[in-house]
Amino acid sequence: MNAADERAQEAIAPGVASQCVSGVVVMSEITWSRARHRSAALLLSAAIFALAVPASAAERAKNVILFIGDGMGVATLTAARIYEAQQRGADGASNHLSFEAFPNLGLVRTYSADSLVTDSAAGASAILTGQRTLNGALGVNDQVRRGDCASVTGSTVPTLAELARRKGLATGVVSTAAITDATPASLYAHTPSRQWQSDADLPPEAVAAGCKDIARQMLDGPKALQLDVMLGGGGGAFLPGEADGKRLDGRDLTAEWRASGGAYVKTGSALAAVPKGTKRLLGLFAPGNMMRENARTATQTDAPRLTQMTVKAIEVLSQNKQGYFLMVEGALIDKAHHISLAQEALNETVELSKAVAAALAMTDPKDTLIIVTADHSHGLTINGGARDTSILGLLPGNEDDPAKALDGKAVPILMYASGPGAAPVGELRPDPAQLDTADPDQRNFAAVPLYSAAHTGEDIATYATGPGAQGVHGLMDHPAVFEVMRKALALP
Ligand SMILES: [Zn+2]
Repeated sequence: MNAADERAQEAIAPGVASQCVSGVVVMSEITWSRARHRSAALLLSAAIFALAVPASAAERAKNVILFIGDGMGVATLTAARIYEAQQRGADGASNHLSFEAFPNLGLVRTYSADSLVTDSAAGASAILTGQRTLNGALGVNDQVRRGDCASVTGSTVPTLAELARRKGLATGVVSTAAITDATPASLYAHTPSRQWQSDADLPPEAVAAGCKDIARQMLDGPKALQLDVMLGGGGGAFLPGEADGKRLDGRDLTAEWRASGGAYVKTGSALAAVPKGTKRLLGLFAPGNMMRENARTATQTDAPRLTQMTVKAIEVLSQNKQGYFLMVEGALIDKAHHISLAQEALNETVELSKAVAAALAMTDPKDTLIIVTADHSHGLTINGGARDTSILGLLPGNEDDPAKALDGKAVPILMYASGPGAAPVGELRPDPAQLDTADPDQRNFAAVPLYSAAHTGEDIATYATGPGAQGVHGLMDHPAVFEVMRKALALP
């Protein structure tokens, strides 16, 4: 057992698992008084899976930390735990990531209001609002029309962060994506298009109809309802053109944030030097998404890793005596999968595991609910392999030779259903035995050629520990994960 695992085990209060009352499903106490639109499917789902019972004191959490591994399907988790152990010379198959030791585990159906397979916007929005919506939309229910600004009126639903702020909790978001990207934006944005990240992305009719871009929505509302901590990439959407940003309205939203009393940092070393007592913190460490592990190493960039951002966010938010809600997204898992870079996706999954271990080590399991989930899966497949074979390698055959497929070429252990790693159209697949499969920039083979891999629609795993964690079990839905958090924080 490694240090992270030990911390994870220590952090799990003895007897937590036994709090799950046999035969009583405490998954989602639906609050009908919130007058939300709910589809027939959700009503049926609630009837099947939710038996409303009041939260006992043991189920109440002071703090909730939600980790989302973007695109972190079950095959990604299995491959990452093998990879993590093999990196330190240990047995991969029997390893587990930090959160895989949590006492509660549920499988989650991830479909969106209009698709068998969700995108990150609809997936994260369902987790953060308890309402399924259309792919591409955020903070709205399924009555919205994609890209139609006027349809936001009447379809807006409150996010967990907004409910938490109204109750006096501190709130924050950490992501390795642009902080205006779909998953982090699900905390604060209400929009029919995830693309509207800066005003340069807004179509003229949306401007005329009064819609605000996502970056502006983050910092334009009443101060009392704004997030307290925002750490990630995406500086371009906050800065005007003359400051190398994308904004057309000339506003420097980072200057406005500083003028309102918030701290603003742009590098990892500046983040480390943020003075104790800082209550409001904005960190934008890249113009767009932050760098994946391999590029970071190659360029020696002074940007924080997910774990450093998570630790700083908890330090700042935990000063609030009434508690806090923090969402942390490992965004680059998805971004690496989209371009067929399996090793980079595994690096980012291992980093998420480290961030969870760090959160466990600095919080009290008696008052902090920690949930680790995903928005959707990706088509990564583990084809086989001997116990001591590198997960990055080839299916072993006789003696030193790899196994051969019917086309006479080796079989990669990791490959994708779709993506740019496919053979060029009209060509046969390359022999992976001729490739350096340990090179993190070497694309893994994909069966179907696409510029960007398609998300996949199988259920994802959700792990939980701490007060209220017993609500995570069995077959769930994304909106039920919202209800677990809402109930634990006793939000209206
Ligand atoms: Zn994606």
